[in-house]
Amino acid sequence: MTVGVLAVQGDVREHVRVLERLGVAVRPVLRPEHLKGLAGIVLPGGESTAMWRLMGPTGLGDALRRELREGLPALGTCAGMILLAREITNWPERYLGVLDIAVERNATGRQVDSFETTLSADGLGELPAVFIRAPLVRRTGPGVTVLARWGEAPVLVREGRVLGASFHPELTGDTRVHGLFLELCKERR
Ligand code: GLN
Repeated sequence: MTVGVLAVQGDVREHVRVLERLGVAVRPVLRPEHLKGLAGIVLPGGESTAMWRLMGPTGLGDALRRELREGLPALGTCAGMILLAREITNWPERYLGVLDIAVERNATGRQVDSFETTLSADGLGELPAVFIRAPLVRRTGPGVTVLARWGEAPVLVREGRVLGASFHPELTGDTRVHGLFLELCKERR
């Protein structure tokens, strides 16, 4: 099973490391042809606006949207979740638009306001979570399940085989969110 990590910008290496620890082959995704035959794709944290700009010229954004609509499993963390979201409440653009949530960008403040906390996630238990200029979910559609909240706000959500996390599971050494993602990848095959 080969899983992709969108590699145009962001904390690609950290995700690759976690996935390799879990025993899957990983392919960095930079161009549309890299999507071929993947069991799933991780969209990392970073800067969503920059990622989208870098995906445009090669056609990767459109190709990825097509794959996701056809059921490619995905895990989007932080900026990656912004890329997946149907709506961004405080930004005029939308990107892939395949996950029925509205997110507020930078809802936890600036870089210096970054923090680590413990979340209680359905089916996963207590989870360490790092928030860095994180998006918070402000609306979820009827098909979306909330797996964890920080205060009132959903921060780990699932719709079908697409997972979105406001935080960075790739930075804590805890592999359970990636483990859940790989379960979804296996289901699809
Ligand atoms: N604030 C960033 C964005 O809007 C996301 C931050 C992150 O991924 N750590 O894309």
